[in-house]
Amino acid sequence: MRRKRVVVLGATGSIGESALKVAHDIPERMEIVGLAANSNAKKLAAQANAVRPKAVCLVDESKIAELRGALEYEPRIFLGEQGLIDIACLDEAEMVLVAVVGTGGLRPALAAIEAGKDLAVASKEILVMAGEIVMREAGGKGVQILPVDSEHNAIFQCLDSQRERLTPNAQRPTPNAEVRRLILTASGGPFRNTPNEQFESITVEQALKHPTWNMGPKITIDSATLFNKGLEMIEAHWLFGVEMKRVEVVIHPQSIVHSMVEFTDGSVLAQLSHSDMCFPIQYAVTWPERVPNSLPPLDFGKVRQLEFATPRYEDFPALNLARRAGDEGGTLPAVLNASNEIAVAAFLAGEISFPQIWRTVEEVMNRHGSVAKPTLDAILRADQWARQGAANALQTH
Ligand code: NDP
Ligand code: MG
Repeated sequence: MRRKRVVVLGATGSIGESALKVAHDIPERMEIVGLAANSNAKKLAAQANAVRPKAVCLVDESKIAELRGALEYEPRIFLGEQGLIDIACLDEAEMVLVAVVGTGGLRPALAAIEAGKDLAVASKEILVMAGEIVMREAGGKGVQILPVDSEHNAIFQCLDSQRERLTPNAQRPTPNAEVRRLILTASGGPFRNTPNEQFESITVEQALKHPTWNMGPKITIDSATLFNKGLEMIEAHWLFGVEMKRVEVVIHPQSIVHSMVEFTDGSVLAQLSHSDMCFPIQYAVTWPERVPNSLPPLDFGKVRQLEFATPRYEDFPALNLARRAGDEGGTLPAVLNASNEIAVAAFLAGEISFPQIWRTVEEVMNRHGSVAKPTLDAILRADQWARQGAANALQTH
């Protein structure tokens, strides 16, 4: 048992904070050697002062004075987009936790793989956009891609039951002929039972109130539209190498069952815990081992009920849009992801209605001529094209 040395990209966000908690909770197994954020110099400095990593990185170079002023020691400081790539390749690091919201984590993630680091991936965007490339490069380098998104981490844990039998050398577990379906659970978000006639009048404040998870604003809105689950379907497809048609979604309002794997004999394995991202982060860091922590155990007397329901596909078109993007593949998932990001930002700014989020995504997807087997450049071009397309679509409405 050794301490894993981890760089956290997106340290000041919701996942980043949870990662710091995990490191504090299991100090004998996790050491933070680098922390990176976008522009929140004050918070990054406070985190660094507490944890004392060897290096920190701020993408927004204009905040350097603020960062230096608030640091109480002298870590190596990386700056800008190149800085994020450089800290992801830090010599001291064995693992990089990618928890950057949006697409900014893609190049650093690929650089970390190239440098031989294992990746713990929270940023689903990078797998949605470039899952094929990320998995291929990781396979080529022999590095592990460990899922942190709670659903994928759950599936990873369920598949782990097969690992020892099928791959004795603690290889990363992957589905085999014995797996029939991957079943992603979704809380259903705050509008699970809201009649669709009321969708037009949904406010930002209502959409930001997630019933079970406490997360950053972008993913919270995605949970309300179900785009989050749509992105996760594509994420699962790439992470586990399973066709889209074998990735399904079930609504589970309690968010206690984090996802399930159905095997060919009809048996289903599930992973359960409280809805706290510290669980999947810890598993990614200590895998293939499990270690004790101070997280609260599940009290089944208090849980009492676990409910499941079929999603309202007609009322929440995000799921079918994502299935279409995942089935078609190529650059279409990147287009879905980018146009959704623009539409969510416009919704958060009070510029568009809630249903306009998926109408915008569909409109941009319909106009896209997808490129099959895209290179990284083709993916990034499609991403830019979709951002512009979504902005134009929003202006003309
Ligand atoms: P937050 O909005 O809370 O935090 C985002 C983090 O990313 C911040 O540290 C922010 O820095 C940083 N950041 C933003 N843009 C850039 C950039 N261009 N370059 C470098 N850093 C950047 O997001 P979450 O923590 O909620 O989510 C992070 C990722 O994890 C997302 O991809 C999300 O989908 C995924 N995820 C999150 C879950 C959750 O429970 N929150 C669950 C499963 C997945 P700054 O503070 O300086 O702006
Ligand atoms: Mg999730």
